[in-house]
Amino acid sequence: MNADALTFLKNLMKQPSPSGFEVPAQKVIRERLRLFADRVTGDVHGNLIGALNEKAKTKVMLAGHVDEIGLMITHVDDKGFIFFSAIGGWDAPVAVGQHVCITTAKGPVYGVIGRKPVHLLDQAEREKGVKLEDLWIDIGARNKADALKAVAVGDSVVITPDFIELKNELVSSRAFDDRVGAWVVTEALGALRRRKLNVAVYAVATVQEEIGLRGAITSAYHLKPDIGIAVDVGFTSDYPGADPKKVGDTALGKGPILHQGANINPVLGKLLCDTARRKKIKFQMQAEPRGTGTDANAIQLARGGCAAALVSVPSRYIHSPVEVVSLRDLDATVALVAETVAALTARENFIPS
Ligand SMILES: [Zn+2]
Repeated sequence: MNADALTFLKNLMKQPSPSGFEVPAQKVIRERLRLFADRVTGDVHGNLIGALNEKAKTKVMLAGHVDEIGLMITHVDDKGFIFFSAIGGWDAPVAVGQHVCITTAKGPVYGVIGRKPVHLLDQAEREKGVKLEDLWIDIGARNKADALKAVAVGDSVVITPDFIELKNELVSSRAFDDRVGAWVVTEALGALRRRKLNVAVYAVATVQEEIGLRGAITSAYHLKPDIGIAVDVGFTSDYPGADPKKVGDTALGKGPILHQGANINPVLGKLLCDTARRKKIKFQMQAEPRGTGTDANAIQLARGGCAAALVSVPSRYIHSPVEVVSLRDLDATVALVAETVAALTARENFIPS
């Protein structure tokens, strides 16, 4: 991966963005999009849109969601302990023992998610497992009034950013779901900016995917794309206990995951596969028998329908503080998305026949 692209990724991972429209995260993407796009705009919902070759009639929307799962403060008790609800889908046990960063009006406030020491858990408590509502955040406050000097009900919380490099070009962080998608569509716009294009391209950093594909719904409605490609993280079966019968035989480092099923326009799906083969980009295939839980679903269903596809970056431990992806897969995903868009003639007929 080139140094600028890696710096962009690292900067992006530092920004808490549980709704998607937090200003620092938007700023990092906006600055990068400005290098590549003819025009960068934001919409009222918070989606960021980088446009290229807007004069072309056929429109392609590339979407990666910039929001991440998080927590939201619901209550502060008399002792100053902070209780919360989930923003998006959490696996409660992974929250225990984490450092967290609360976004407040006055800047970040740090805390920890505590739990009773294992020595003091009785048998019933051990067997019950952990639920989010049993957990709390400790910011070191003396009491409720002291806590409320620092935080407010409604403030959002993420796992404290911590990007690390593992062996073999693997990297780990919270929120690769789906900051890597926003990264891919931005970098794909960069790869396309000096190419001859037959289509207009809109790279969209969508908001609020984790709570119902909300930014893709508004941005796809607004942009009216003919073709839409969502980039998200995809499940792998390359770690202990993972089941290839559920997610296919997929692994890190083996290239982007393409999908077959109702959410994928067959003509666009074939174009992605053909492009990968022609450009010698390794890819993996995953079955998706129904609508995917990704922006590809909202884009496909926008207005009268759109030729949609999903391209996934293989990822381990999705929705945990230690999601893992491969930098090589990230580069390959950019190449596949960009080459597929560059190959569009605008004369394709996406009506299945
Ligand atoms: Zn997610």
